[in-house]
This record gives sequence, structure tokens and C-alpha cells, in this order.
Amino acid sequence: MKIRDIRATTVTVPLEAPLRHANGCHWGRFVRTIVEMETDNGLIGLGEMGGGGESAEAVFRAMKPYLVGHDPARLEEMRFLIANPTASLYNNRTQILAALEFACLDILGQAWGVPVCEILGGRLRDHVPFASYCFFRYPDPRTGNGEVRTIDQVVENARALKRRFGFTTHKVKAGVFPQDYELEVYRAVAHAFPEDGVRFDPNGVWSTEQAIRFGQAIEGLRNDYLEDPVYGLNGMRRTRQMVRVPLATNTVVVNFEQLAANVLDTAVDVILLDTTFWGGIRACVKAAAVCETFQLGVAVHSSGELGIQLATMLHLGAVLPNLSFAADAHYHHLTDDVIEGGLLPYENGAIRVPDKPGLGVKLDREKLREYSELYQRLGGYPYDQDPGRPGWTPIVPNGRWADPKDDRPVKIPY
Ligand SMILES: [Mg+2]
Repeated sequence: MKIRDIRATTVTVPLEAPLRHANGCHWGRFVRTIVEMETDNGLIGLGEMGGGGESAEAVFRAMKPYLVGHDPARLEEMRFLIANPTASLYNNRTQILAALEFACLDILGQAWGVPVCEILGGRLRDHVPFASYCFFRYPDPRTGNGEVRTIDQVVENARALKRRFGFTTHKVKAGVFPQDYELEVYRAVAHAFPEDGVRFDPNGVWSTEQAIRFGQAIEGLRNDYLEDPVYGLNGMRRTRQMVRVPLATNTVVVNFEQLAANVLDTAVDVILLDTTFWGGIRACVKAAAVCETFQLGVAVHSSGELGIQLATMLHLGAVLPNLSFAADAHYHHLTDDVIEGGLLPYENGAIRVPDKPGLGVKLDREKLREYSELYQRLGGYPYDQDPGRPGWTPIVPNGRWADPKDDRPVKIPY
């Protein structure tokens, strides 16, 4: 079996409302590049990549001369072919490798008649539980609905997500407003759901001393972990020495060099594995095995996904023996998907691991066309800019907070 063609299509899929984060905002939509890899026996494997609001089509076109004629089963060969670690100093293709690995695994699963998780060691579970992933949100500029800014709005949003999807873990995504305000928000969520797990992620915006202050203040809550309170392994290490809450990261341990450093001198307790950031599902499985060896925790990270990427997260979650936390997904903030059947459903806060061969999801051609046209009409957007604060740039550690009393509507072109 040989790769015959690689195609890429950029799509824009609307979110229920713009999602605010420490570096800016998801401007009411996700821009994702959908990859189709075709083999000489007519199979089509699917991949997906983000890109901070921009299209990544061109880079997949550039990979075609490398990969046409290549056997999709030779995944380790492909890793060195397009993402050799020293060549990556110049071209940094880890995320591209990930999307192509998804497509290869999808092809192999179809060719061999098994779901991807059965290639990766075999499923240990049929459902992967997810956290509610609560964001501060601007109101949808088209309807004026969906704002999440006040403490009551955050708690009500978490209640609504729990009612609708069945979540028993709540993640508060923060780093937007001053720390004292966000501490009040987090306490309110923890107290609203005394039997549920909670986790907090300010995306590394605080100083180490601020991280210690916040971490000490939340001791005693039902914390899964405190995620990236400060940016950098040494800041995390100093925080960990002073705080009795496990620390997690999806920013400072995202490759094997950093994982080795964290094993030798531990700074982080829980490694959040992202199938894109790490360069594929298999890299995450390897990293999870290192974490199992050294008894570090793991969870499944979300960098924003449509159904293809979500399938990679489900197959990963299915095979990790040491997955002891609910996964994260932005998925329930989407209004639609490009896969057949539309959005994959949640059942009791979990999503069923696909059991069809390969990734187990297929493109809905009509949706692909619709959302490709939407991308062509709207273009990209700067993920690291806030449409409500033109000219604003956060620094690290940050002090340029948004005002929680500011309820001006935001203008975003649609
Ligand atoms: Mg995070």
C-alpha cells in the first residue's frame, strides 16, 4: 500500500460564543485544516490540524513530494522523513507530522479492519469521560446571547453544561481577569458542585509568587490539579514545593526532552497529552508509558478540535492504562461538525470510543463544502488577539487584565 495523494481543506466551524483565554480569544469560530490522504488502493485517511486561527493547507501541499509512494504503515520512517529532530530546528513540523500520522493510522485501521485503538495496544475502555471546560465568553455578536463574565454566569454555565452533557468534572479556563476575581469564580464553581472534581487553568500567566498564593488558597477544594499556573519548569517546581495541590501542564512538558527533565527533577505531577502538540497519537502513548514508569499522572489535552481530532483523543484515551482524569475537549462549544452524523454525542459526561475501522469517522462532503466556503468568506482570525481589546498584548507574567465589570458587546465580523 502506497500513499498516492494528500489534500487539505481549511474549514471554519462556528462556536456557540467567542471563548476568552489568557492570550486572546477564539473569535466565535474554529479554523481547522482537514487532511485527506489517499492510497493506491483507494483508501482515504483523515487528519486535522489547528493553526491559531489560520489555514495550514500550504504546508500539507509541501509534504506531498515527501510522502507520495511512501507506505503509510512506516510511521517511524515518516517521523524521520519529515520531522527529524535536528532538521526541525529549521522547519518545526511536529504538528504537521501529527495530522499525517492520524491519516496513516486511519488508513491502516481501514486496511486491517480494526479501530485505531486496537492498533495502539487495544482498548481498555469503551467511553472516555470529559470535563465541562468552562470559559469566560463574550456574547455571540449575532444574537447577544451566551455571555459568561460574572461569577453567577460562570456557575450557571457550568450547571447548564452538566445538565446537558452530564459532566462530573469542571475545568475553569481563566487567566483573563485579575487573580482575586478568578479565585472567587473558582471557589464558587467548586462550592456549587461539592461532589464533582474541579481544575483551573490560567495558561501560565502568573508570576511564581502569584501561582503559590493562588495554589495555597485553593488547597482543600476538590482539585484534580492546578494547570499551568506559571510558565516554565522552574516556576512550576518552586510552586510545587510550596503548594499542596498537584500541578499539571500542557505547555512546559510537550516533548520527550522536557519529559526527561521533569522526571529527573520533578516540576509537574500530571502531563496533559495532546495528540497534535506531541506529534501524533503514538507519541502520546509513548509519553504515557514514561509517565506510567515514573508514576506521573496523565490526562488528554484539547487544543481545539473537530470530530477527526476528537477521534484521535478518544482512541488515545481508550488505550492509556494510567488515564485517571477526565479528558478536556472544546468540542461541546461547537455548533456543528464536518463528520457524517454531525457532532459525536456525550453520554453521562463521556463520549463513546468509535468502533468502526480506522479513526471511525467519515467526512460529510456537504458540511466540508459549507464550512470551507465559510472559511473563504471570513478568512482566518488572530487567536492571540482579543477583539474586545484592540492593541492589547499580554506579557508573561501578565498584569494587563480585562475588567470583569466591562460588559460592552464585542464586534466581530461574520
Ligand atoms: Mg492548559
